[in-house]
Amino acid sequence: MAKLKIITGVDDPILRAVAEPVEKFDAGLKKLAKRMKEAMVEAKGLGIAAPQVGESVRLFLTVLNYDTSNESVLAMVNPQIIAHGNEEVLGEEGCLSVPGVYDKILRYSDISVEFFDLEGTKHVLQLSGLNARVIQHELDHLNGVLFVDRVKNKDTASGVVM
Ligand code: ZN
Repeated sequence: MAKLKIITGVDDPILRAVAEPVEKFDAGLKKLAKRMKEAMVEAKGLGIAAPQVGESVRLFLTVLNYDTSNESVLAMVNPQIIAHGNEEVLGEEGCLSVPGVYDKILRYSDISVEFFDLEGTKHVLQLSGLNARVIQHELDHLNGVLFVDRVKNKDTASGVVM
C-alpha cells in the first residue's frame, strides 16, 4: 500500500476544515491509525492528526512520555479537553504540515482529555507538560487551527515537530 502523504501548507483547505466526528469504530479506522503511525514515525513527529493525511475525521495519534523508558503511541478518537489548570506555559512547537517553522506557543500545562480508543471505549487521562502540549496541538488540527495561528513571539528556532 502506498504510504500516506503528509499535507503541508497553511492554506490547504483540509488543514483548515473542522473535522467530522468518528462514528464507526471499524477496521477502516484501525487501518488509518496504523498508516498514520507509520507516517508519523517516518517523519519523526510527536503527533499526527487525520486531516494532515487528507482524512477530515476526529482522530489523532500522540507520542506520550517522549524520550523516556515509558514512551508510547496512543490513538485518540473524538477527543475533548474536559478540564484544564489555570497555568499556561510557553513552549516551542513545530508541525509536520508546516516544515521548517518553529515557534513558542502558549498552552495549558495540565489538561484532562476525554477520548475513545480505536475499539470505541471511552477513557479520561490527566496529562501535563509535553504530553499536554502535543494533545492541544493535535486537537487544534481537528478544528482547522495551526500552531502558527497562535504565535505570540518570534525569537526561537529548532525543536520538535508534532
Ligand atoms: Zn501539527
